[in-house]
Amino acid sequence: MSDPERETRDTQAAGKEAPGGWTGSCLCGAVRYRIRGAEWLGAMEHCHCTDCRKAHAAAFATFVDVVRDGFTWSSGEERLRSHQVATGAVRRFCDRCGSLLAWEHARSPGSICITAATFDTNPPPLTGRHIFVRSRVPWFECRDGLPQYETNDPHTQSDPGRRAVGTPGARPIRFFFDYISPNAWLAWARLRGFAARAGRGVEPVPVLFAGLLDASGRPGPAEVPAMWRWMVRNVLRKGALYGVPVNPPHSHPFNPLLALRVSSLPMSDAQREEVVESLFRAVWVDGVDLSDRSEVARRVSAAGMDGDRAVRDAGERQVKDLLRRRTEEAVAAGVFGVPTMLVDGELFWGNDDLEFMERFLGGRDPIVPEDASPWQRVPSSARRR
Ligand SMILES: [Zn+2]
Ligand SMILES: [Zn+2]
Repeated sequence: MSDPERETRDTQAAGKEAPGGWTGSCLCGAVRYRIRGAEWLGAMEHCHCTDCRKAHAAAFATFVDVVRDGFTWSSGEERLRSHQVATGAVRRFCDRCGSLLAWEHARSPGSICITAATFDTNPPPLTGRHIFVRSRVPWFECRDGLPQYETNDPHTQSDPGRRAVGTPGARPIRFFFDYISPNAWLAWARLRGFAARAGRGVEPVPVLFAGLLDASGRPGPAEVPAMWRWMVRNVLRKGALYGVPVNPPHSHPFNPLLALRVSSLPMSDAQREEVVESLFRAVWVDGVDLSDRSEVARRVSAAGMDGDRAVRDAGERQVKDLLRRRTEEAVAAGVFGVPTMLVDGELFWGNDDLEFMERFLGGRDPIVPEDASPWQRVPSSARRR
């Protein structure tokens, strides 16, 4: 299978991020889709189950889980045909060329599972794993070093009904933060416990709080003196109750850009967790001035990275752009403050929302989405001057 047209297309693919997200299409090009940005992507799963093998006519199938709100069919949606498999999962494919583009499941209406091989522009590196390797064909070995699970990953193995074959795994909790926020520190210190209990990972996403404030047109708490006076006491109370140390920062507000950019650099999940932890502690436990380059470098080195190099790399344009883009994507996702936790398409704002998030994760949310619908239609009858 080799011809000039195909070679041309193959050289065009791989690795480019489209402006405003990632795109993909079927073989004939009739059906196209767009993913708004990295914030909407979950893990990448290579599924070896029999359904996937047959459906894709391949040894295994690779999916990326995408939050619904971050996904659109940009053209040809009317050409999509559906086929429901025994587990209830629905395959969506082009009626002309037959490319399988997505799997959907009624039990996970907040997400759609996109076949990664249909991407035209590639997403950033994602957490990967092999699932259902007990069904793996004998003529293909997985030697890429990724974790392998007999069926689903351990987080969901106890609840096999929740994840049908070919549907995504438990997504990490996206944690939008800025070091400038003491509530972000409190939430960071507690979040991993909540996540572990729910069988979820945590994905820290550095964003510029000032950018969120600009987008929503409101002042930060430290810019409203009465609010800040209250907040200091509120934060100290919470720190005392939760057993999280909180001390006065070196200065406040301060410029968090360097620390946020350093935290945005490419690195492993485990390394990022160390870096974020070290920089948060620097501000809110040790009173370190995070606008100081040498202090940032020292804290990053303490977290096991080359701090001087990280500080240097953080000055690169693409790193600055990445932080800006993350912030814009956060705004587009409805994030207006920090900390915000995004999980399965639902936003939780502030340290105080962690308990609500836990209920949501445990399937004990006291509301259903429709409860909020009438509120969206309430008109205003006065405007503040
Ligand atoms: Zn097609
Ligand atoms: Zn499968």
